[in-house]
Amino acid sequence: MGGDILTIAREQVLERGQPLDGAQVLAVLQLPDELVPDALELAHEVRMRWCGPAVEVEGIVSIKTGGCPEDCHFCSQSGRFQTPVRAVRLDIPALVEAARQTAATGATEFCLVAAVRGPDDRLMRQVGDAVAAIQAEVDINIACSLGILTRSQGEELAGLGVHRYNHNLETARSYFPQVVSTHTWEERMETLSLVRELGMEVCCGGILGMGETLEQRAEFAAQLGEIAPDEVPLNFLDPRPGTPFSELPVLDSRDALRAIAAFRLALPRTVLRFAGGRELTLGDLGTRDGMLGGINAMIVGNYLTTLGRSPEQDLALLTELSMPVKALSETI
Ligand code: SF4
Repeated sequence: MGGDILTIAREQVLERGQPLDGAQVLAVLQLPDELVPDALELAHEVRMRWCGPAVEVEGIVSIKTGGCPEDCHFCSQSGRFQTPVRAVRLDIPALVEAARQTAATGATEFCLVAAVRGPDDRLMRQVGDAVAAIQAEVDINIACSLGILTRSQGEELAGLGVHRYNHNLETARSYFPQVVSTHTWEERMETLSLVRELGMEVCCGGILGMGETLEQRAEFAAQLGEIAPDEVPLNFLDPRPGTPFSELPVLDSRDALRAIAAFRLALPRTVLRFAGGRELTLGDLGTRDGMLGGINAMIVGNYLTTLGRSPEQDLALLTELSMPVKALSETI
């Protein structure tokens, strides 16, 4: 299809807001290097047309790190691998302070993340206390990422006023068994359906560069397109020591940029967020290319187990690109 796919995408996605399907996404992922800037430019136009110029900024904090019983092969928080992750538990005052600092950057979302298969009663109590304490003192939306939920846990979180729930599908359905053996893609889908049914926003993305084929990368984009999450965090594998994926090569920056454009064309209206691995895969220049290539959200500060760029650097870039940080009033 070559450059033809960009002509088709211009009419289909930019003009009509109709997402690319799997075969069309694959054609974008296969574009020659010289057409990557054109693909990014079109993806940027799509983002501006269907989402606008504002950038959503989010902070994340780990409320339970490491020791997870699951075996996601990319994850340094699995208790099954010998990784150098330190277990840290933050108390409620520290969480409130982290939320306050996040809000001070202009961020509208603050996500509490726990490395678990799903929450137990103790974790649910801690989350309940943390959410109430943050809500009492900080003006910010609270999101949670606590793994697989039961219906009653979902209801409890919705009742607490949790705004958005993150649960990544990680990769294409056909590749998932090569990435995780302790639970299934379908189990993850069940939690996503529950979250949507209970009225919380759905945040669902994954990690690229885990050894999936381009066909599987396209399959994943199309599967996310069908789910149409409110937010899609796009991570690039940062091969962590001790994990089964530690020897995988870092995704080529051109492939990462092709993927950013392709995912935007498959998800014209979603909040498409730069998440982990962008510094390693793309560096500073690539971060700029991504923000001008369809990305409209970012995590500021540090990720769960790796360091990110400083919030000041990212916020300065947004100012330079004339992209306002999305205000809290626009997200509720
Ligand atoms: S990705 Fe989540 S569920 Fe999987 S091992 Fe890591 S913390 Fe556990």
